This record gives sequence, structure tokens and C-alpha cells, in this order.
Amino acid sequence: MLIPDDNLAAWTGHWLTVACGCGRKVHVPVKLLVREHGPAASLPALVARMRCKSCNGRVADATMTANPQAGAVGYAAGFPFSGTRERA
Ligand SMILES: [Zn+2]
Repeated sequence: MLIPDDNLAAWTGHWLTVACGCGRKVHVPVKLLVREHGPAASLPALVARMRCKSCNGRVADATMTANPQAGAVGYAAGFPFSGTRERA
């Protein structure tokens, strides 16, 4: 998984959507992560430590979404983590 080297402060107001290989997907508000880990916490490091609550697997894919409640499935509004380094 390839993600930018950002800290949480750069993404406040967004939601982190993480998906597991088992099909489970969760939306986590970045402001909640900031409250738990602080604004300087590394986003890639946090994602790397996350585990699926269903199968205990690692995160298979992570995207930033402006507002998953309004856009429903829409990844289009978010910044895609996957592949950013590959295309660079
Ligand atoms: Zn899983």
C-alpha cells in the first residue's frame, strides 16, 4: 500500500476510509484520530498499525474522503492513497 507522508493535521475535515481484504470497510473521521494520536501523528504509520476487527488482517487499501456521509460510496471526492507513489 502506498500513501503520502502526511500527518493528521493535513487532513482534518476529511475521513479516512480503510478497507480490508476480507471486504470490511470503515470510515474514520480524521478529527477522531487527531484527538487520540495528536495532529503531528503520521498518517501512514497509523494506517500501518490498523487491524481489521473481523479478521485481524492489515489494511488493504486506504483513501481520504471529504465526507462519506454525503457522498456515500464516493471515493471521487477523496484523495486516493493507493498508487500515488507508483504514478509519481
Ligand atoms: Zn478483514
